Amino acid sequence: MSAAPADPVLAVDIGGTSLRLGLINAEGRLLGEIARYAVPFTDDGAGDLEGILALMAPHVERARDAASGELSVGISLCGNVDLESGDAILVPNLGWRDLPFGALVSQRFELPVCVATDVRQAVLAEAVWGAGAGERNFAWATVGTGYGGYLFLNGRLYGGAHGFAGNFGHTTYDEINGHACGCGRRGCFETYVAGPAIARAGQLAHEAGRSLILSSLASGGTISTRAVFRAIELGDPVAAQIVDDAIRLICINLGGVVNLLDINLIVMGGGVAKAAPWLVERVNERIRAYLMTAEAQRELRVTRESTANAALWGAAAHVYAVQGILPRDILESGRTHRAIRSWQTAASS
Ligand SMILES: [Zn+2]
Repeated sequence: MSAAPADPVLAVDIGGTSLRLGLINAEGRLLGEIARYAVPFTDDGAGDLEGILALMAPHVERARDAASGELSVGISLCGNVDLESGDAILVPNLGWRDLPFGALVSQRFELPVCVATDVRQAVLAEAVWGAGAGERNFAWATVGTGYGGYLFLNGRLYGGAHGFAGNFGHTTYDEINGHACGCGRRGCFETYVAGPAIARAGQLAHEAGRSLILSSLASGGTISTRAVFRAIELGDPVAAQIVDDAIRLICINLGGVVNLLDINLIVMGGGVAKAAPWLVERVNERIRAYLMTAEAQRELRVTRESTANAALWGAAAHVYAVQGILPRDILESGRTHRAIRSWQTAASS
């Protein structure tokens, strides 16, 4: 039995802090509302798989009851995912390594499941329904808990040899003086520009007594990323300098991406970009100083994601492309694209 084209997909976006679910149809329209939950964690600080499945369960049942055919689930996950197996290879924010996540979800709900990395799902959504519609080449960049992206080249998703292309946030900037990175190395761009880096710089300024405004925003002695942006709104020059430094490094890094690929569009999303929409406009202006060609300086656009949650839409688009309802040739070449049906495999073996 295959899903009727009219049936919406249950899309799930699992981030480092929040989990979102929504029913999205093949035209990219949200049916009903997005449900939001805090991601549950176990006592040892890892993402609680059972808790996540429990949060999904009532949504799966409601969507299954409403579907005329077989319900499909599309999932976006905040880490490296093996596209073909659906395994979570490395999800630092959830403490997951080599977890057969897609198979476990498929088995639990006895439904076909498609899983991929959030940045990849986001670029797919932008290509199909968003800012990248009609573009042959563009990059997605996210600034949030982490910093990185994914690529859409020659009219299709580009995963590289192992599916890890687009990790420009893990280009080394300073491995000697830099901070430890979630990837296991030191001094990556991510450790200078992502939300935790901005919070860390704010914390140092607060502890050094360099900003009374920042110190007034400390909660229990701790400065959050949000507090740094709030301090900027209150006119704090120290907070403004912290974010300015991050913007400069984002521009150096993304400028390198443009010089490498000669693309005309970068779409930016993620929690930090959402919290401070002007950050994207500043990147759009300042990146020009790091572009090699006059053509790129003239034509490159850096723009915000076209929905507040492109990864959620991309999780749905992934399913529709695997089913052939959207063109399959927008998916990565050289890979087998199919939904995971692990409960059927288990039953037949
Ligand atoms: Zn790194």
